[in-house]
Amino acid sequence: MDNINALLRELPSVDRLMRESLLEDLQLKLPRRVVLQAVQETIDTYRSYITSNASDQSLLPQTGDLHPANLAQEALVLAEKKAGMNLKPLVNATGIIIHTNLGRAPLSEQAVKALTDIAANYNNLELSLENGKRGSRQEHLESLLCEISGAEAAIALNNNAAAVFMALNALAGGLEVVVSRGQLVEIGGSFRIPEIMAASGAKLVEVGTTNKTYLRDYEAVVNENTAAFLKVHTSNYHMVGFTAEVETSELAGLAHKHNLLLIEDLGSGVFLDLEKYGLPPEPRVQDSVSAGADLVTFSGDKMLGGPQCGIIVGREDLVARIRKNQLARAMRVDKFTIAALEATMRLYLDEEKAIREIPVWRMLTAEPALLEERAKTLASRFAEIAGSANISVVRGVSKVGGGALPTAELPTYLVVVKPMEVKAERVVENLRLNNPPVILRLQHDMLLFDPRTVFEDQEDILVQALKKAYQD
Ligand SMILES: *Cc1c(COP(=O)(O)O)cnc(C)c1O
Repeated sequence: MDNINALLRELPSVDRLMRESLLEDLQLKLPRRVVLQAVQETIDTYRSYITSNASDQSLLPQTGDLHPANLAQEALVLAEKKAGMNLKPLVNATGIIIHTNLGRAPLSEQAVKALTDIAANYNNLELSLENGKRGSRQEHLESLLCEISGAEAAIALNNNAAAVFMALNALAGGLEVVVSRGQLVEIGGSFRIPEIMAASGAKLVEVGTTNKTYLRDYEAVVNENTAAFLKVHTSNYHMVGFTAEVETSELAGLAHKHNLLLIEDLGSGVFLDLEKYGLPPEPRVQDSVSAGADLVTFSGDKMLGGPQCGIIVGREDLVARIRKNQLARAMRVDKFTIAALEATMRLYLDEEKAIREIPVWRMLTAEPALLEERAKTLASRFAEIAGSANISVVRGVSKVGGGALPTAELPTYLVVVKPMEVKAERVVENLRLNNPPVILRLQHDMLLFDPRTVFEDQEDILVQALKKAYQD
């Protein structure tokens, strides 16, 4: 016990630590309160460590460990961590292109430039430069969205959940909306078709079965309270076996025969022909529009490759009703989103440019031969810094992620690192805590790096991060 008390007495005071030259210098750079907090936490951590290990001499700090210079160094590391941003860029080595936990689509250079230009300056968000009168923020986007989708009108809202909600609320509030039982999906935990429908004030009428729904199932429930059919793209799961779904064009035909609307939630916002690039097909926005869907909704930050938002394209009179709805303002997009989305949509005016400049599409269409070359280069650089590990390059698969093409497997080459002297979990944790963090896959005690989602200018960062993660 005497020993414990002696150790506790040896702990420097907060004032004493704050006067360490290391921390005095740090206060010129970081706010004093941050340094103070770090110092207090460092001392508290030592104090509780000492008291909770009182019974085991071998775990206790040795004389000298508690020297102010040592604690100041620890407080400095903690203070720098506290002063850093909570939300920060990281390296995605998982090979999952659209990863909701990792912020979905990274933006193109063009979108980033548009975003920062608008953020730092006044702009014509709601001013018509033609006549000097008040303009609409949606006008910056509408003609582009219409040109690319072939629709008459368009509006962007906060996200696709908001887009679906608004379409239902504005056009089917208090009325019935018919959905196939095979399409009552949940996306990302909090977007569930039955719940969104209930919140919007529309009444869900389920038809068909889990695996098969026919046109006659829809027709059988139509009555004077029916407002619309809602077709939902089952974007994050795939059914195999005996299945039947009604095509957009057929469903549109039936809806229009009964003077009803067809609303289609596509989820992802694809404008390009995936099959042309050897990928499995995904419905395109312009195809749904031309097949007769009255409104089509999709996300901006999934395969579209733009900022978070939800886009509705379709009939002018229907979009006008959504625009006029009071809730549209609660869900409206801000100037940053408009800037980034406009710049992204402009890239779609030229397909080659879209593929080259939009990171999501560059990653989707990356050539396996190039991925193999990058994997091999990374592997040999890794071998130089983690000599004891077993390092190889193997064939593997990347995923699209983000509720799109759930079963698509994009062939890739993975760098596999099997640590021998350190625990793989430990290296993964160190990489996650690195600055910038590196996120990767861990499988059977092996670290898997997929070059597909690592930008080429992040390769040095990756090598440095692994080097540090190995040493710590
Ligand atoms: C992702 C998705 C949503 C939700 O979109 P958010 O932009 O995340 O709100 C809705 N419906 C479908 C079919 C989706 O795939």
